[in-house]
Amino acid sequence: MAWTADKLPLPELVETSDELDQKATQLAGLIRQSKHFIVFTGAGISTSAGIPDFRGPEGAWTLQAQGRQRTTGVTSTLQAIPTATHMALVELQNRGLLKYLVSQNCDGLHRRSGILPDKISELHGNNNREICKDCGKEYIRDFRAVADYTKSVHDHRTGRKCTRCGGVLHDTIINFTESLPERELQLAYDHAKRADLCLVLGSSLTVTPANEIPEVVGNRRRRGAKLVICNLQATPLDGMAELRVHAKTDELMVGVMRELGMETPGFVLQRRLAATVEVAGQGRGQRCKVTVAGVDVDGTPVSFLRAVKLVNNRRVLKAEPFVFDLRGDVADGGLELELELDFMGHYGEPNLQLVHGVQEKDIGVAAVYLLEYNPYNGEWRTTRQLGTPGVAVL
Ligand SMILES: [Zn+2]
Repeated sequence: MAWTADKLPLPELVETSDELDQKATQLAGLIRQSKHFIVFTGAGISTSAGIPDFRGPEGAWTLQAQGRQRTTGVTSTLQAIPTATHMALVELQNRGLLKYLVSQNCDGLHRRSGILPDKISELHGNNNREICKDCGKEYIRDFRAVADYTKSVHDHRTGRKCTRCGGVLHDTIINFTESLPERELQLAYDHAKRADLCLVLGSSLTVTPANEIPEVVGNRRRRGAKLVICNLQATPLDGMAELRVHAKTDELMVGVMRELGMETPGFVLQRRLAATVEVAGQGRGQRCKVTVAGVDVDGTPVSFLRAVKLVNNRRVLKAEPFVFDLRGDVADGGLELELELDFMGHYGEPNLQLVHGVQEKDIGVAAVYLLEYNPYNGEWRTTRQLGTPGVAVL
């Protein structure tokens, strides 16, 4: 990718509240009428979560160009609460209105907020995702998935290995001059070509080739495709826009959701836990192998546990894989496993006790629990999910 950064940031323009209301109404109408609505997001959508943007007055590259350093007010991306914009997009996805999301952000907040893996192209990677170049398997981590040893910027090895094939894992971050991930870029183009409405949120649209995605839609305006841009500063594609909004993205999206008659949901941290019991041996010598692992909605492994305790035999495991060996007879009326989960805890989530009941029919089948943590009231909610295809526990 390529980019430019100016020493003097472009001025930030702001609409009056009447103008903003009017534009929110207009955009809500466009969304309602759309058949294939896509959204393109940049760093501007995460600034209210405490994550700095790049080209705003306090943006990372503006500061760099001016030789200044940031001093306060920055939240770690692992602790950031997704913004009203993130959560509005999740609701629009869940209602079937938002068909695809293309993001330049690598803070991982879209995925954490509830955007499904097959609904997003993260063009510049994701700080929390690493991938095996040999077999293609992905891993999501509740920590920065980068190497903890010093290495050159273009060396993407993280030092971890693929549990499926033993291959070397690589981070997914795209540095300047590196090319974008082919599949994600292709999917973004495919959706842009089909889109009749593209909403740009919080991007200055100066980074190529990512900015070509909204341009594809803008170029089809004679055929009815509409480009809407919400960014405080001017962008090079403003001339193509059907509607141009100078506002913070949260202000616009709150207005749009109100016009659509939809509530913007509060952020809930969603974790999925797969528990599998396998049995070896017979009679008195029978033993159970209990495997506990974090998974994504599509079965991709997710590392979010610091430790797991199997209360039944008081064993504590402090590193993946969490595999316990237990004496027990499932056939004889079932087995009740008592687990205590200790999380990496970026949202201050407390330990969670989980009782996993196992019947004979459950042997060898992964049971998946949806664990929802509400950071506003500090409570966990646990739901055992029925039939989750595609989950394979390693
Ligand atoms: Zn592999």
